[in-house]
Amino acid sequence: MTLPADFQFSQGSLQDYADCPRRFQLRYILRLAWPAVEAEPVLENERHQLQGQAFHRLVHQHLLGIPSDRLSPMATDEDLRRWWHHYLEDGPADLPPARYPEIRLTTPVAGHQLMARYDLIAADAGQRLVIVDWKTSRQRSSRRWLAGRLQTQVYPYLAVRAGSHVNEGQPVQPEQVAMVYWFADFPADPERFPYDGAQYQADEARLTTLIEDIKTRDDEVFPLTTDERQCQYCCYRSLCERGVEAGPIEGAEAVSEWGDDFDVSIDFEQIAEIEY
Ligand code: SF4
Repeated sequence: MTLPADFQFSQGSLQDYADCPRRFQLRYILRLAWPAVEAEPVLENERHQLQGQAFHRLVHQHLLGIPSDRLSPMATDEDLRRWWHHYLEDGPADLPPARYPEIRLTTPVAGHQLMARYDLIAADAGQRLVIVDWKTSRQRSSRRWLAGRLQTQVYPYLAVRAGSHVNEGQPVQPEQVAMVYWFADFPADPERFPYDGAQYQADEARLTTLIEDIKTRDDEVFPLTTDERQCQYCCYRSLCERGVEAGPIEGAEAVSEWGDDFDVSIDFEQIAEIEY
């Protein structure tokens, strides 16, 4: 089963492959939409996701220069109002002055494009480049879990490889880069990951290996994950005969965030954390 030559990888698709090769195949190669609930209760999960998207839109507009007093009346939902207040009162501190919200970077890796859509890159050209990702999850993700996510590897790596135009045309050095996860319900407790040359080399090796592995697969059916906890929040579970009931919303992190795969209807980044 071959991957289209123009297939563009993202942290989301790579994370799917790392979590379950079969999910990657169903979602990105076969592009199979499967009608199943991802977490229960359904309406509450959908509401939370929609409010998370609304929060990202509000912050984006604010970063583009629209005054907060014109945006605040749009925050009518209780969660959204609270997140917006936290952002205005206790948003990420000490960010470099130049702001690039919703910026998209791409670079070739192992013969395919790797793409990331950032919530925000804040830059001080030649000095610092801080990647900020807004999280509207109910739970504050652990550092260990975040450190293992492909997002924490892909975003800083791509910023080094492809971020020169937010650095006044100069190459970005790994040591200039940091990644910050800011949690809308835990504004005083962001998670920061510094970056360096050794991590850059390690990320390049892992991403190249992952993409090569996907490219060279020739099995008709990609392997199903052996970790069946992944299936609890996966819409393909009835297709894979891995259960019918969706997992409870309390057991997953409904990360209502903009994914980087807008062209597919199912976004597994919406259902992110399963604690181990
Ligand atoms: S139900 Fe389980 S095995 Fe099937 S695609 Fe989803 S995660 Fe993979």
